[in-house]
Amino acid sequence: MKNRGYKIILVSDEQSEIRQLNINRNLLYGIAVMLLVGIGLLSYYFSDLYSNRVYAARLEQIRVDNTKLIEEIRETEQRADLLQTQLDSIRKRDDLIREMVKLPKIDDDIRKVGVGGANAPDEESSLEYLLPDNYKGLHALKKNFDFLNRLANLEELSYAEIYDRVTSDLVRFQCYPAIHPVSLEDCHLTSGFGMRVDPFDRKNRFHEGNDFASRWGTPVRATADGVVKASKYYGTFGNYIEIDHGYGLKTIYGHMSRRKVKRGDRVTRGQIIGTVGNTGKSTASHLHYGVKYKRRDVDPADYYFDLTFE
Ligand SMILES: [Zn+2]
Repeated sequence: MKNRGYKIILVSDEQSEIRQLNINRNLLYGIAVMLLVGIGLLSYYFSDLYSNRVYAARLEQIRVDNTKLIEEIRETEQRADLLQTQLDSIRKRDDLIREMVKLPKIDDDIRKVGVGGANAPDEESSLEYLLPDNYKGLHALKKNFDFLNRLANLEELSYAEIYDRVTSDLVRFQCYPAIHPVSLEDCHLTSGFGMRVDPFDRKNRFHEGNDFASRWGTPVRATADGVVKASKYYGTFGNYIEIDHGYGLKTIYGHMSRRKVKRGDRVTRGQIIGTVGNTGKSTASHLHYGVKYKRRDVDPADYYFDLTFE
């Protein structure tokens, strides 16, 4: 059988020598295949090594980003808590104002859900698969913000309703004893409305107003617009003023050192009507202040709309 293959003839320049190499074709194929396989394996090995390094670097970056994201989510949670506290204080004030302007209180059930802005669909709001297994806060946070948003909408509606009511009946609200009779920086509440031990005979008696301890001579102000019904020295109250505000509301001021208005005068809220003193049945310089509604003593604290002593 004829040997199938190739011949390579080498000719030397100098000696005109001729050499001949016989190469078997199968051997040539074998070498070619082995070379190809070798190159393939090497390139696989190096590309694998390279991509592993690239992925490791990216993974590390993702881990760092994730940690930052969780930190940001936690900070946002804290901001949501703060918002909740602020909305809670707005709610308390809202309840109080609604009561003052005779609007019905907002139902607790409505407060629990708020108004408008339905929950985002779950599939959109859940990005938790991007976060580590032990962290499940994102979904709750989104829900919390949805709720706060609805709560803010509710307060906005409520305040709009209150505004309408107040502006339509402004005169009436100017007659509402809404401020403290002595500037809060110049006094402190020593005795509230209700049962107390009488400072004179140590017996339990009902105290029908608020006592504000203050320096002798501190200005006393009318707490609402009205007409002076009495300005006189009046037994245990000493120097005494009574103002009629209409709508069944009256305020009284006792133990003053001086009275600066007389019976029949029109006064406006904040106007100085006298000064703090120690006249009548009084142990120290203070103002006795009372609010009457339809001839009955009521707690002045229920009417203050400026800062309270809480
Ligand atoms: Zn008193």
